[in-house]
Amino acid sequence: MHLRGDAFSLFYAPCGERKISMGKIEVRFKDGTVGIYPEGISFGEILKHHSGEMGQEQIVAAKVDGQVLDLQAPLDRGGFIEWINFSSDPGVEVLRHSTSHVMAQAVQALFSEAKITIGPAIKDGFYYDFDIGRGFSPGDFPAIEKKMREIIDRDLPIIRRVVARDEAIRIFQERKEPYKVELIQDLPDPQVTLYQQGEYIDLCRGPHLSSTGKINAFKLISVAGAYWRGDERNKMLQRIYGTAFPSAEALENHLFLLEEARRRDHRKLGRELDLFSINEEAGAGLVLYHPKGALLRTILEDFEKREHLKRGYQLVIGPQILRTDLWKRSGHYDNYRDKMYFTEVEGQGYGIKPMNCLAHMLIYKSKIRSYRDLPIRYFELGTVHRHEKSGELHGLLRVRGFTQDDAHILCTSEQLDEEIKSILNFVRDVMKVFDFPYDLEISTRPEQGTIGSDEDWEKATHALRSALEGNSLPFQINKGEGAFYGPKIDVKLRDALKREWQCATIQVDFAMPDRFDLTYIGPDGEKHRPVMVHRVILGAMERFIGVLTEHYAGAFPTWLAPVQVILLTVTDPQIPYAEKVCQRLMEAGIRVEKDFRNEKLGLKIREAEMQKIPYMVVIGDREVRQELLAPRARTGKSLNPMKVEDLIQKIKEESCIGGESYR
Ligand SMILES: [Zn+2]
Ligand SMILES: [Zn+2]
Repeated sequence: MHLRGDAFSLFYAPCGERKISMGKIEVRFKDGTVGIYPEGISFGEILKHHSGEMGQEQIVAAKVDGQVLDLQAPLDRGGFIEWINFSSDPGVEVLRHSTSHVMAQAVQALFSEAKITIGPAIKDGFYYDFDIGRGFSPGDFPAIEKKMREIIDRDLPIIRRVVARDEAIRIFQERKEPYKVELIQDLPDPQVTLYQQGEYIDLCRGPHLSSTGKINAFKLISVAGAYWRGDERNKMLQRIYGTAFPSAEALENHLFLLEEARRRDHRKLGRELDLFSINEEAGAGLVLYHPKGALLRTILEDFEKREHLKRGYQLVIGPQILRTDLWKRSGHYDNYRDKMYFTEVEGQGYGIKPMNCLAHMLIYKSKIRSYRDLPIRYFELGTVHRHEKSGELHGLLRVRGFTQDDAHILCTSEQLDEEIKSILNFVRDVMKVFDFPYDLEISTRPEQGTIGSDEDWEKATHALRSALEGNSLPFQINKGEGAFYGPKIDVKLRDALKREWQCATIQVDFAMPDRFDLTYIGPDGEKHRPVMVHRVILGAMERFIGVLTEHYAGAFPTWLAPVQVILLTVTDPQIPYAEKVCQRLMEAGIRVEKDFRNEKLGLKIREAEMQKIPYMVVIGDREVRQELLAPRARTGKSLNPMKVEDLIQKIKEESCIGGESYR
């Protein structure tokens, strides 16, 4: 099909245009060859002429100077052409977006009242939102999937059309698709692109596959409610999530990981292991730690305190509420107020702290500091409250009240590099303890809502960059994702299922010391401004515990396990001896639980197994007679009979992390 270049460029700004002669355009290919083609020729036609290194069958799109375009799009400018196949990320995205259209077509074929809205590709899949007079359920999936399979088997060409805006509005009015009409009305462009396959038409920028038959392995995953345009004042739509992969094998693999994630869900394990609960009566997003969860957190906190003291940090503790005036001075009131809780007593306004920085700055300011005192590193397990939207709350991963392993370092500009380097080493050491590989990212200044001068932002960003580059650590850049007071390094750890979690961050801040007039006396006897580094290593304890629970699937290593040993009696006569063993283990600092109930041993064993405790010890007559224990490891392996002292020794050895014993 032939389209004029200018129609196309409405969506894709031309760059590096190079016309050889009237109507001819020169392009370069990845393999080094050069071609001259008539303007307006489709990339699909070019592909036929240009025998690339890949099989033509596998190619789903073209990438022109970094932009992914489908094979029907017309050539309207010169540039560097790269062919995109199924095995690349942009190729899979085209596949998933096309599958979302097929799903919408299937849904409309089955439910004629369903109105289409939007349906993009997302990480790991796609979704489509429908306005339909009923709720969807997974029970609808088999019928929808069957219909999708039919549409794929028909191998319908997916046709791209550029039409005038008014024409597009008319088409969708006729088709009784009010959401599409609304979307077009909001578009500034005089022309828009439509994609059609069989009887189905969608307003879409593409790119798409050339026909439905190119889709192979797909699966519908879940349903959810979603507001039109993400706005809770709008109508609630029905969202169906699905996914698609180039091969059945890749799909199987993904579904296995999803199932595994479900099995490891920390909300489910949190209940089964009796770690925590969240009770609407107390408030959404507020965590109640049960004894085992509180113990787990205490073990982590003890670990953190030791690691910080070892590295020259000082422990401090600030108040939970601070005067509103102070939050105004820090810029939190202007830039962060929406997420804060406020209260008023005796005419005095207070803000419940969403961050720990202010108290630390006041402690710094409590006396005159000399350059000889720097760097000063204040550490606090600081509990903060932030009002997250209720729709965004999720178990321990997204909460409203949480405790950070927060530190603020005050140092001279000259010390900054060294401080960032040692924080990066700290992160490395701690991630190793938990077996987490991780990636690093730098987040730069947000477009708006920031404090501090351009120069300070520049300086701070440079400091973070050079610390990473100086250590030859690879990193990515996240444009505009920094905090309101400074840029940051984000650490994204990868768990056992290769999922990414944001935990540690390191933020450099020149603005806050200025606002609070923090100073130190330099060697010249003059006042100077220190730099402040905000950093967390584990991040929020709640979130980290949630991530750890899923990472270990609830089977915490011995040093972290809230219960390390469980003792089971076979019958009542063993109780006195079992009590003695229990007492000895407790005295030695081993975390022990007992089940001396008069129940069938099989039941007691099954229940103990569910708790994923590192060691289970069944005490029968023989154990009493020989004064020995026969522990069974969580893995199912039976250990040789041993004395109580030997078991104590074994558990203590396993609880040694980095030369320190955490138990
Ligand atoms: Zn689309
Ligand atoms: Zn801070």
